[in-house]
Amino acid sequence: MKVSIIGAGLAGCEAALQLAGAGVEVVLYEMRPGRMTPAHTTGLPAELVCSNSLRSDLLRNAPGLLKEELRRSGSYLMKAADSCRVPAGGALAVDRHEFSTTVKKMLDEHKLILQREEEVTEIPTGPVIIAAGPLASAALADAVAGLTGKESLYFYDAIAPVVDFQSINMNRAFFQNRYETAEQADYLNCPFTEEEYFSFIHELKSADRVSARSFEKEIHFQGCMPVEAIADSGEMSLAFGPMKPVGLIHPVTGQKYFAVVQLRMENRAGTAWNLVGFQTKLTYFEQKRIFRMIPGLENAEFIRLGSMHRNTFINGPALLDGRMRFNADKRIMFAGQITGIEGYIESIASGFLAGKLMGGLEALPPAETALGAVLRYPAESPADNYQPSNINYGLFPPMKKKVSGGRRVRREMLAERALAKLEEWLSAVSPAN
Ligand SMILES: Cc1cc2nc3c(=O)[nH]c(=O)nc-3n(C[C@H](O)[C@H](O)[C@H](O)COP(=O)(O)OP(=O)(O)OC[C@H]3O[C@@H](n4cnc5c(N)ncnc54)[C@H](O)[C@@H]3O)c2cc1C
Repeated sequence: MKVSIIGAGLAGCEAALQLAGAGVEVVLYEMRPGRMTPAHTTGLPAELVCSNSLRSDLLRNAPGLLKEELRRSGSYLMKAADSCRVPAGGALAVDRHEFSTTVKKMLDEHKLILQREEEVTEIPTGPVIIAAGPLASAALADAVAGLTGKESLYFYDAIAPVVDFQSINMNRAFFQNRYETAEQADYLNCPFTEEEYFSFIHELKSADRVSARSFEKEIHFQGCMPVEAIADSGEMSLAFGPMKPVGLIHPVTGQKYFAVVQLRMENRAGTAWNLVGFQTKLTYFEQKRIFRMIPGLENAEFIRLGSMHRNTFINGPALLDGRMRFNADKRIMFAGQITGIEGYIESIASGFLAGKLMGGLEALPPAETALGAVLRYPAESPADNYQPSNINYGLFPPMKKKVSGGRRVRREMLAERALAKLEEWLSAVSPAN
């Protein structure tokens, strides 16, 4: 068997490595760098297009559990991510360039993976995994629409700006992790007085934005709302959201603040810093003007400015079976964000499952596991008004017995149950896989 995989993104690379690891030949098609997407900037595989964070590493958060399950199950991209970690408190953030080059090395070293730089415009014959992501090229999106016979669904995603460390005014900004007093902190904080906050909000709300094409309705993914859209929803929305000051006290003066913008390290060298939660669709001119109002960023040099993109996904529940196959033609699988799951780590998990299933895995991961949730979401959600979702504990079956002790205890128990079920599954499937 030779499997074609369309897209060397997070899902496509993981699927290719899983298949090759199981002794299956793979042709991995990637159109970059010859043809770029609106968000990717390199020709490297597994490029992280926006934040460099793979989110929480704590088991009581579902993304943390999913990462742990991927580690235990032998995910290649998870291994790459762990090896490129940059400090980010309880989250797993990576040096994005190092992450992609580590994945590239893994692909290059595998004799069974043939990498082809080519835009796929028609669905190849034979077994195929379509992992072309939310920014699948127009020609491929047309070919997929030809298959599915329905108009594609879409939503908008926005990217946050990145600034040069040298240009940050460290007389205003300070290092500190939320709720921690550790000397070695991972986050940089730009603090606002009440007056500074309200004049920032005022300018943000009235700034020029890039508008969607006239025939498109702007549908945002809830977890990635542009900062100005959050501001539109209420004057204090940012102060209770991405700019919340709780747990942040100046380590020297002990001062508390009305609001804080946090910056997270973008690369291991610490030369580039990402504005956390500041994805935006303001025009470039306005981004520079408004974000330089942030105390500490008065002279900020922007390494990358924010932007907004249309994301395409298929109506998974209407089109896919429970093994990620296209109902009308079972040789075709879909994986990654194009299926309507959302997020880096979810896309890696989806690629992992596609690789395993295409490679002949019979037993599905149990419903109680995070891998089971990623598998089931695009197949079993209601097809009416299907919308992308990150992994979250709401997707897990509830505990059979009532758990007392609040949300945190409940989640810890769900994680414990998931890992026990995962171990059972792994020991059942590992001899064959
Ligand atoms: C603007 C934006 C910001 C995002 N920000 C975040 C974030 O901060 N955190 C987060 O967790 N998730 C984020 N996501 C969501 C999502 O997790 C990522 O898009 C993730 O990379 C999806 O993985 P994937 O493998 O499905 O697709 P991708 O990683 O996008 O991989 C798809 C690959 O297919 C290639 N391709 C497309 N069409 C063709 C073709 N016809 N022929 C050959 N190759 C093709 C593309 O070049 C790309 O390399 C964001 C998405 C977007 C669009």
